[in-house]
Amino acid sequence: MMVSKFFTLAELTKSETASRRSIANEPDQEQIGNLTDLCLEVLDPIREEFGIPFSPSSGFRSLSLNEVLGGADGSQHLDGMAADIEIPGVSNRSLALWIRDNLDFDQLILESFSDEDPSSGWVHVSYSRENNRFESLTHDESGGYVNGVSKSEERESWLKGILNIKTAFPYFINHLIIALTIGFVFQDFFVGAAFYTGREIRDWQKLGYFDHAGFWWPVLPCVGIELAIKLNLL
Ligand SMILES: [Zn+2]
Repeated sequence: MMVSKFFTLAELTKSETASRRSIANEPDQEQIGNLTDLCLEVLDPIREEFGIPFSPSSGFRSLSLNEVLGGADGSQHLDGMAADIEIPGVSNRSLALWIRDNLDFDQLILESFSDEDPSSGWVHVSYSRENNRFESLTHDESGGYVNGVSKSEERESWLKGILNIKTAFPYFINHLIIALTIGFVFQDFFVGAAFYTGREIRDWQKLGYFDHAGFWWPVLPCVGIELAIKLNLL
């Protein structure tokens, strides 16, 4: 039975483990509805975009199958809302980034991926009819998850890179240049303001505008923006 243009119910419920161990893996009407939404909103658009046939390695999982597979409690696979996918010949990072930038989704996870082997890992993606959270995560080598799916490992390890002079140096120089530029512009602004209002520059100095700290406070928004980009908030 086709649930969408490209996907059948059979391939969304198939499981080698289930058939080997004779575990029932049959979704009810509501779960089939969720699988259908997932196909229409996520899997079909991916298939259209990349033009390469693929079949999810895992879609719907019954409670007992999920237990046997060691899946998380409350996994969205249980509701038929999630699928694990890979496209032959496409890096899983590129796939995750395309989903992040082009589709409505609830949760997107780049799992067990390493840039050295573009076919490593897989992409877990879920869709919720009611409330898509647009949460994206990347599985970390340490076994945990970090926020966002980034364009490359280099960006991802930026925070770790603070200790790595080679990675951190260009950012530091950027901040310095931006901070000094903004600092000088503001200094000029206050000099101009003092001139036009006929006030003594000393009056402005009293207000603290000329403290040398004035040169440095723009560093804060710069660092903030940089951090937000790294964490994929921007
Ligand atoms: Zn999954």
